[in-house]
Amino acid sequence: MLKLKMFINGEWVQAADQETRKVINPATNEVIAEAERASVEETRTAIAAARQAFDSGVWSDLSAAERASYLFKIADKLEEKAAELSALEMANVGKPLREAEFDIADAVDCFRYYGGLVTKPNGQTYEVADPVQGLIVREPVGVCGMIAPWNFPLLTGAWKIAPALAAGNTIVFKPSEITPITTIKLFEILEEVGIPAGVVNLVTGGGSTVGNELAESDQVDMVSFTGSTEVGRSIMKAAAGNIKKTALELGGKSPNIVFADADFETAVDYALYGIFVNAGQVCNAGSRLLLEESIHDKFVDSLVRKAKDIRVGRGDDPTTDMGALVSEGHMNTVLDYIQAGIDEGAELVCGGKRITSDGLGQGYFVEPTIFINTTPDMKIVQEEIFGPVLVIQKFKDEAEAIELANDTPYGLAAGVFSQDGAKALRVIKKIRAGITSINAYNLAYAEAPWGGYKQSGLGRGLGTFGLDEFSEVKQININLDVSPTGWFDTEEASKESELQVTR
Ligand code: NAD
Repeated sequence: MLKLKMFINGEWVQAADQETRKVINPATNEVIAEAERASVEETRTAIAAARQAFDSGVWSDLSAAERASYLFKIADKLEEKAAELSALEMANVGKPLREAEFDIADAVDCFRYYGGLVTKPNGQTYEVADPVQGLIVREPVGVCGMIAPWNFPLLTGAWKIAPALAAGNTIVFKPSEITPITTIKLFEILEEVGIPAGVVNLVTGGGSTVGNELAESDQVDMVSFTGSTEVGRSIMKAAAGNIKKTALELGGKSPNIVFADADFETAVDYALYGIFVNAGQVCNAGSRLLLEESIHDKFVDSLVRKAKDIRVGRGDDPTTDMGALVSEGHMNTVLDYIQAGIDEGAELVCGGKRITSDGLGQGYFVEPTIFINTTPDMKIVQEEIFGPVLVIQKFKDEAEAIELANDTPYGLAAGVFSQDGAKALRVIKKIRAGITSINAYNLAYAEAPWGGYKQSGLGRGLGTFGLDEFSEVKQININLDVSPTGWFDTEEASKESELQVTR
């Protein structure tokens, strides 16, 4: 069993009170690791180390090219260790190995992308009449507290750590208490490549202790949070004390809209991919499928047939298409939602149950599940389930599709399937969501900004926007006529006005 320590000020340390938490493989319920549970005091020690490192300039004073060279080394090491990291991610999250391999490859891309981006020209210049030459430059925000969820542990870490380091910040990172393993491996790499002590700190532990302290501390300049909307709201409140910069990547209930003129097979394929990848534990999952009335029945038939063929199983079984849910507690939440759908009168046409056969009884597996005949007010239509549960809604025309699509408190992602390009673009532009696709679903690139409208979040990660998110913007005004303004030379001014009166 792995014994996982924390990384504070360049040292691997244990919690002083020896509090630990067992880390489980959700496919087998085996304990695979034991992680430290930090106290608020230990979180403060990590924050102080990051504060000291930032204020010393040991990282932010390096040139962008020097910081980039560290990021490239991190990417190389992640790539070297990809097989080990994928196996650990698979075991800790319960996902199929194929998915874990994609996650690690995406994390490598993310470090390379920001290593490349940070040395490219940025900022603006302006000229004003005074005469002044203005420069706009980007500077690091300072100490960044980072709080991550469990669905893509290493990848979420990369999405935050790569741009923050590129921009010159220092970091205190808290992974989800359920899935700390690969983040700890990433920190071993950060140490290996020689990131100076105090620049990156890792504290494992609970949300209400470690997480809340990161959000609340007046020594932290920014909090970057990925997780549920409910916790996001409490982070915002906690961050108000020192008006911390706040970046929130929250939940979703995203619509995937299929018009009758869509390429049928492509739309069915992406509808499945949109909801059943990572067992639906994806923030931008296409969890609401909106079907045009005329194709509804044929589409549902095809979808259900294919969903029933999805092989659910352990991640290390190469025939597995969909893995386990992350924990017993989360599985029970998903099963409760399924029951709520049945109770509210939605029609269950696929799945709906826990799987305990074929040696899966120890793990937390739920069948790919599909509901039809839903109404917009149902709990399963409005709330994020975060599991392999697809709810289908029916629409008559373009206007109704848009209305239904926007009818939840969330605004993270959306998809439109149609072979009428103008219609697809018209509809996608009316959807209040940040991550959208036409004739595709579930795409994520280091190059593209990531984040939501409405209660799906605040700010944008990834792309150039991700670097901006971890930066402050400074204007520098350079006077091109170095002489006094004379503004307060009142004697001179009155003589001048007397002279003008005499004339
Ligand atoms: P969660 O909100 O329960 O927990 C996320 C993190 O916050 C964990 O590390 C947890 O320990 C911590 N936390 C909990 N209470 C806290 C508190 N009071 N103060 C500070 N930190 C606290 O979410 P989860 O169950 O880990 O992840 C699932 C959620 O994450 C879903 O809602 C999903 O949509 C969302 N998510 C969003 C994105 C995105 O990019 N928008 C990506 C992945 C996941």
